[in-house]
Amino acid sequence: NSDSAERKVDSVCPYCGVGCQLTYHVKDDAILYVEGRDGPANQGRLCVKGRFGFDYGRHPSRLTRPLVRREGVPKGMDEGFDPARPLTHFREADWDEALTLAAGGLTRLKADHGPRALAGFGSAKCSNEEAWLFQKLVRTGFGSNNVDHCTRLCHASSVAALMECIGSGAVTASFMQALNADVVILTGCNPAVNHPVAATFFKQAAKGGTRFIIIDPRGQAMGAYAHRVLRFTPGADVSLFNAMLNVIIDEQLFDEAYIREHTEGFERLKASVRDQTPESVAMACGVPADEIRAAAREYANAERAMIFWGMGISQHTHGTDNARCLISLALACGHTGRPGTGLHPLRGQNNVQGASDAGLIPMVLPDYQPVSDAQVRASFEELWGNAGTSSDGSGDALDPEPGLTVVEIMDAIHAGTIRGMYILGENPAMSDPDLTHARGALASLEHLVVQDLFVTETAQFADVILPASSWPEKDGTVTNTNRQVQLGRQALPLPGDARPDWWIIQEMARRFGLDWDYGHPREVYAEMQKGMASLNHIDWERLEREGAVTYPCLAEGAPGEDVVFSEAFPTASGKARFSPALPLPPDEPIDRDYPTVLSTGRQLEHWHTGSMTRRAQVLDDLEPEAVASLSAGELTRLGVHPGERVTITTRRGAITLVARLDDGMPDGMVFVPFCYVEAAVNLLTNPALDPYGKIPEFKYAACRLSRA
Ligand code: SF4
Repeated sequence: NSDSAERKVDSVCPYCGVGCQLTYHVKDDAILYVEGRDGPANQGRLCVKGRFGFDYGRHPSRLTRPLVRREGVPKGMDEGFDPARPLTHFREADWDEALTLAAGGLTRLKADHGPRALAGFGSAKCSNEEAWLFQKLVRTGFGSNNVDHCTRLCHASSVAALMECIGSGAVTASFMQALNADVVILTGCNPAVNHPVAATFFKQAAKGGTRFIIIDPRGQAMGAYAHRVLRFTPGADVSLFNAMLNVIIDEQLFDEAYIREHTEGFERLKASVRDQTPESVAMACGVPADEIRAAAREYANAERAMIFWGMGISQHTHGTDNARCLISLALACGHTGRPGTGLHPLRGQNNVQGASDAGLIPMVLPDYQPVSDAQVRASFEELWGNAGTSSDGSGDALDPEPGLTVVEIMDAIHAGTIRGMYILGENPAMSDPDLTHARGALASLEHLVVQDLFVTETAQFADVILPASSWPEKDGTVTNTNRQVQLGRQALPLPGDARPDWWIIQEMARRFGLDWDYGHPREVYAEMQKGMASLNHIDWERLEREGAVTYPCLAEGAPGEDVVFSEAFPTASGKARFSPALPLPPDEPIDRDYPTVLSTGRQLEHWHTGSMTRRAQVLDDLEPEAVASLSAGELTRLGVHPGERVTITTRRGAITLVARLDDGMPDGMVFVPFCYVEAAVNLLTNPALDPYGKIPEFKYAACRLSRA
C-alpha cells in the first residue's frame, strides 16, 4: 500500500548490468517495497531480483561491528562455522583498533617485502567512487598495480578483443537499439535469465519485426521469439563464426565501402577463413552447413544488425578469439556506427562497466590509460599529488609495471610473492575457479582484510573484517551496460557501527600515510572527472537532476551518445582492425573418463556467489537449494528422476546436488549456478586462462556424472 510509505527514495537496482532505475518506498528505516522508475534502460520495468531482492541488508547475519580473528583460530572454511554467529572465530573490535590492525598488518608486509607483496580486489558491487578510491589506494598506498576485480572473471576477454580491434572496451550501442535493428544475433547469453529487463525489450523488438538469431549450445526462453536458432557443440564457437565469415566473403556479402573507409587487415581475415567453409566445420559444430549459410546471409544482408554476447563467449580459453570473430562479423558487414547496429557485450554486474572505467584493472589506470605510459602516469601523479613511492626504485610515484590479475594473484600467493590482501566486496572463496587452490591461497595469506556486509566465505579467511554499507545505505554513481552513468541515493541508515565504504577506504589510506580528506562521494566524483574524459559534461549535479546520462557526452546538456563510432574509431589510425582467429580446442576436452561438459553461470533468482540474494527472503524461497540442469536424455542415461541427487566429478573435486530437468540442455552437458556454497561448483571448474583476457574457462570443464 503506497499510502503507508513515509518516504520515496530514487535509486538504481544493485544487481545486473541492465541498471534499472527504481524507487525504494521506506518507512521506519525499512524498505516496504520497490517500484520500477522510468529510467533509460528499464522504462518502469523490474525483474524479480530488483523487485524483491532488497531485504538482504537487514538479514540477521549482517555485520554491524568490526571483527578481528581470535588468537589461535586457524584460517579456513570450517563446516561448523555459522556466519550469523561469527564470535566463535572472531571478536568484536572498535573501529580504531580494527583499522589499526587491518592497515598495520599490510604496512608491515610492505615494509618487509616491498609493495608488490600486497594486492587488492575491488568489486563491481562498488560504486564508481568506491572503485576509484580503492584502486587509488592500491596504486598510491600499497605502491603497485596489483588491483583487479570480477571483470576478470566476466568480460575481460571481450574487452581485450574490443580494445585491440576498435580501440574501446565499452558497447558501441545500447541494447535499446535492438528496437531499430532488422536482425539481432544473441550468442553465449541468456538474457531472460541474466538480463531480464533487457530481454523484455528484445521480445518487444521481435514482436515489432526484428529477426533474432540465437547461437548457443543451450536452448533458452528467447528461443520462442527467435527467427533462427543454431545450437552448436560447446567449444566450437570460433569454427562456427569463421564459417559465417567464410560465407560472407565467398558470396561477397561484405560491405566493401565500409571496409575500405573504416577498417584495416581485411585481406588477412580473408586468408585466415578461406578454408573454413560451413561444410568443413558442420560436423565439429554440430550445425548443418545450410543453417550456418542461412544465418550468415541473414546477418550480412540486413540493413541494420546487432550482435549481443555474454559469458558463453567470454569465459573460454579462446574467449578473446570468440570476441574477435564477432567483431570481424560486424566490421565485415558495416554493422556499427548507425542506429540499429552495433557490438554489445552484455555486462553482468550493475557496475562492472563503471568499476572497470574507474581503474579496478591491473594494467590500466582509469579510462583504460596504460600504466606503462609515462605521460599517463605523470598526469595521475599530478592529479593525486603526493602519490607515494613505486616498487621499482625508479623514482616514479606510480608503478610502471602492470599488476597481476585475479587468478594470477592466487598463484602468486601460493608462490609466496603476494603475502597480504585487502578484499572489498569480492568473494573469491566462491567465485574463483578451482576453489581448493583459491581457498588454499586465502588461508596462506599472512594478512587478509575483508570489507563486506557479511562473514562471506572469503571473510572466513580474514584477519580483520570491516563492516561495509549495502547499496540502499549509500549515495553513489554506477555505470550500466549501455554506458549510462546513474545516481543511487541513500534510502536507509547504516546499522550499528557499519560505515560507508568510501569512508573505510579513506581511513585505510590515512593509515598508509595518504592525506585524504573526502567528505562525500560527490567530492570523489569531482576528482574522477579531472582524470576521466569519459565523464566530461556529466556532473554530479546534473545526475541529481536527470538521474542518468550516457557517456560519451559531447556538450553541456547534450543527452550523450547512444551509438558511437559513426565517423572514426578511437584507434591510432581512426580505423578498426580485423583480428583473425583460428579454432582451438577447450583446455580440458571431454574424454572417456570425463565424458560430459560442465558449464557454470547464474540463475534468475540468485546473484553471483549468493551473498546478497541467498539472504533475500523471497529470492531464497523461490530457489532454496543447489540444482544441476540436465536434459531428459541425460537424466534417463543416469537413471535419475528430477528432484533426485547427482554427483558431478571433475579432476579437481566432486559435488552432489539436486537434478533438474531442463529442456534447453543438450545431451552431454550439465549446467550449475555458482551461488551455492553447499555445492560450490567452482570446486570443479578449470583455472586455465585465456592468454589475452586472463579469464578462466568457466564454460567448459570435462566432468563425470553419477547417481548419488
Ligand atoms: Fe535489477 Fe537487472 Fe533485474 Fe533490472 S534486470 S531489476 S537491473 S537484476
